[in-house]
Amino acid sequence: MIYVVGIGPGDRLAMTVEAEKIIKDSDIIVGYKTYLDLISELIADKKVVSTGMTKEVERCTRAIELSLENPNSIVSIVSSGDSGIYGMAGLVYELAEKLKYRGKIEVVPGVTSSVAAAALLGAPIMHDYATISLSDLLTPWDLIEKRIELSSEADMVICLYNPRSKTRVRQLPRAVELMLKHKDGNTPVGIVKDAYRENQVVYTTTLDNIDYDDIDMRTVIIVGNKTSYINDGKIITPRGYKL
Ligand code: SAH
Repeated sequence: MIYVVGIGPGDRLAMTVEAEKIIKDSDIIVGYKTYLDLISELIADKKVVSTGMTKEVERCTRAIELSLENPNSIVSIVSSGDSGIYGMAGLVYELAEKLKYRGKIEVVPGVTSSVAAAALLGAPIMHDYATISLSDLLTPWDLIEKRIELSSEADMVICLYNPRSKTRVRQLPRAVELMLKHKDGNTPVGIVKDAYRENQVVYTTTLDNIDYDDIDMRTVIIVGNKTSYINDGKIITPRGYKL
């Protein structure tokens, strides 16, 4: 049996009760070291297999192999946030098919970063929104540009994951350039770094004023729609109620 568990953004309180219970009930835990460190006190008595950041295929294959080698054990593979959003869930199913794994696989939902960040920023989503990853490691950049442009044209709130890394620095300014074709420069933007973790940073700015150097891979960005506004440090996107 394999569980693919989303552990939420970081803090134990932001993990679902189900995720915590399943991790406690597991015999073997597989994950990326940084995420395992976030749940260290839950997994002290378990067999723990940790892998590097870009080793997703290796990590999921290992989880399947461990489940095959230990058919009576519960194996949990953990992702940050939700495991179905740029996480491990899809890959586990794809590999299970390829490796002819016949055991049970269950996905346990978690609080994804955009939702965690939205709560810290006030109510910036509230309406239709798009989640776009700026990582072009697995996705052609042309397709990412198209999604940014069309969702901006459709006036969606846009949540940007994987906005900028040490080597991927051109993507975010280009994404902003595309959004500015349809969104105003004064559109509220929420920046949340390390949500629900020790070094959490939360602030608001506007599309014209994003400090790119301050954005990294631990940051999620929420860009408002045409009705979003900032009041008392919070971003609010009205749902449309007449008040
Ligand atoms: N499965 C994860 C997303 C993994 S992609 C989820 O559902 O949240 C990795 C990206 O998620 C990071 O580059 C960053 O944009 C975002 N992210 C993950 N954890 C975060 C956190 N605690 N605070 C802010 N952004 C976070």
